[in-house]
Amino acid sequence: MRLSLGGGIMFEIVKNDTKTRARVGTLTVPHGGKLLTPAFTMVGTRAKVISLEPNDLVRTNTGIVISNTYHLWRGLGERLPEFKGLHTVMGYDGVIATDSGGFQVFSLGFGREHEVSKIGFFPEEEKTPGFLSDLFLQIRIWLGIKHSRNSVRVMPWGAYFKDENYGDERSVFLNATKSIMLQEKLGADIILAFDECTSPRHGRHYTKWAMKRTHRWAKKCLAVKSNPNQLLFGIVQGGAFEDLRKESARTIGSMPFDGFAIGGSLGNSKEDMYRVLEWSMPYLPDEKPRHLLGIGQIRDIFEGVERGIDTFDCVIPTREARHGAIWTYDGRYDVTKGANKNADVPLAPDCACPACASGITRAKLHELFKNKDREAGKLATLHNVYFFNDLMKSIRQAIMEDRFSEYKEAALSRIEKKK
Ligand SMILES: [Zn+2]
Repeated sequence: MRLSLGGGIMFEIVKNDTKTRARVGTLTVPHGGKLLTPAFTMVGTRAKVISLEPNDLVRTNTGIVISNTYHLWRGLGERLPEFKGLHTVMGYDGVIATDSGGFQVFSLGFGREHEVSKIGFFPEEEKTPGFLSDLFLQIRIWLGIKHSRNSVRVMPWGAYFKDENYGDERSVFLNATKSIMLQEKLGADIILAFDECTSPRHGRHYTKWAMKRTHRWAKKCLAVKSNPNQLLFGIVQGGAFEDLRKESARTIGSMPFDGFAIGGSLGNSKEDMYRVLEWSMPYLPDEKPRHLLGIGQIRDIFEGVERGIDTFDCVIPTREARHGAIWTYDGRYDVTKGANKNADVPLAPDCACPACASGITRAKLHELFKNKDREAGKLATLHNVYFFNDLMKSIRQAIMEDRFSEYKEAALSRIEKKK
């Protein structure tokens, strides 16, 4: 199945798994990047994957990177008009995506107020807020009465951010039109619609009102987008409520987006998240690419691929590397732990990453971390990024050979085995 998305952009599904929704595809973009999916998107928030140089992205087989519209916009400030585009600034020819700023509506807003991430993990006995508390919340925000930790005021026409991190006391405004304008200026290959990402602690009513805003903003994004060389992905919201998720997937899935992303909240557990995918996927056209936003634990990758997800993004490989966590096919270990002090062995058996190829051992990396040597974070990042890309390659190969389910079981039992 081959789908031309205009401007020389093409998504082609080369193989469908016979037992699950898993598939292998190729995404071709004008910059010459050809991405094989399923793929893992490395996070380069401010137009740079921390610890890595442009050449390192190539050496670790990184095919796609995501940058952050909100932070680039705020960070660049008045220098934005001179911005030369992400491919030039990053010196990278692979596929680049930008998110829309919609996630910051959550992460700087209710994420902070509720002290939660996209998956809640709050006590079972805590009741989901009812209509009155959702209504109170909505009125409170519209009146501009904010919680001390919440820096965002979401109105029907967009969101106001009062973010002390940028040393600006005034609030700044972002909406669908502005988000698309900014993303066109930043120049990524894949851009996202502006949305309101809700919290796992929102009740069904607030989640529904936010979803309706997201749908209206999605239409606006499609209407104002003007660059044919960029793919615009719509975002499905609706929290962990089955009817809302289905309604959102049906609504967003029927709009003429080039691809789709599943946004948070994803519920209160991993099982909730997998259910959210199962509810949404049937409404998202098979011939278009699908992304799962901000998720990338190893099990989640397998469960997502099985349910038809093509791309993931997450800070796990890079952020954890900087703290000394090393990922391997035998699971994760902390290289800063004393047990590695005299471990004169490679970071992982048979690893061909640039760090391992240079002959680095666990003992040496342990020492570099202990000495707070800058090389430590870089070597660990090279290894982890290579590993995640290698894992995705193994997954693609398993789908091509019609043994995805067998591979999933074997790989997870090895990676998740308690040591
Ligand atoms: Zn390695």
